[in-house]
Amino acid sequence: MASSLEIAGINKRFGKGDKSVEVLRKVDIHVAPGEFLILVGPSGCGKSTLLNIIAGLDNPTEGEVRIGGKNVVGMPPRDRDIAMVFQSYALYPTMSVADNIGFALEMRKMPKAERAARIQEVASMLQIEHLLDRRPSQLSGGQRQRVAMGRALARHPQLFLFDEPLSNLDAKLRVEMRAEIKRLHQASGITSVYVTHDQVEAMTLGSRIAVMKGGVVQQLGTPDDIYRRPANTYVATFIGSPT
Ligand code: ADP
Ligand code: MG
Repeated sequence: MASSLEIAGINKRFGKGDKSVEVLRKVDIHVAPGEFLILVGPSGCGKSTLLNIIAGLDNPTEGEVRIGGKNVVGMPPRDRDIAMVFQSYALYPTMSVADNIGFALEMRKMPKAERAARIQEVASMLQIEHLLDRRPSQLSGGQRQRVAMGRALARHPQLFLFDEPLSNLDAKLRVEMRAEIKRLHQASGITSVYVTHDQVEAMTLGSRIAVMKGGVVQQLGTPDDIYRRPANTYVATFIGSPT
């Protein structure tokens, strides 16, 4: 069963007193169970800060993060059952692909046979079965990214967070990996938030998109809504709507 995610009234300030800066303001985003939500906006608008708050790597100044209806603010990251995929993925260089994928399962003391079955299942979802015996140094950039996703996926997280995972890849590979991520989401049904600064990626990947600027969500809607009925000139210009 997929979990819902509610970001409710999130404010975030860095620093203290009159030197403090407000990075997120009144952010409200509800993500339905199994939904793939895109968070798009220019560099510095607060996307990573929001993901870090969802993951528990940072705390909000105000507001709640509810996973499956439960407020998780203050709960340590390891108890939140969230997987995060970044642009810089660190695979364990001395381990095979299979062991990289299975590592988190081994840490959770999953029996070996069950672990092997789960590694196969994830590898088949990502179409990397033929790479399971290789080391990370024997993989291309796109293959490494797939293994990183496999590792995150293996333990059946409640929530998947992607922070610009494709921004280090070349254009052709990026298009391929987008399709891959879409397929992966359809196969796993895991509730996901995907951060990007790339408008095309946003418009092609998500069922709903939150457009952010300066720590404020400017509009939340389907790609069609946002394109046809931008909430303000900022959104229209950013998305490239006809005016
Ligand atoms: P994005 O991911 O959209 O590029 P970030 O969430 O990384 O944006 O950053 C939003 C703003 O918050 C930026 O102006 C950044 O400089 C600032 N910021 C991020 N982390 C910190 C921090 N630990 N201390 C102070 N300012 C920060
Ligand atoms: Mg960022």
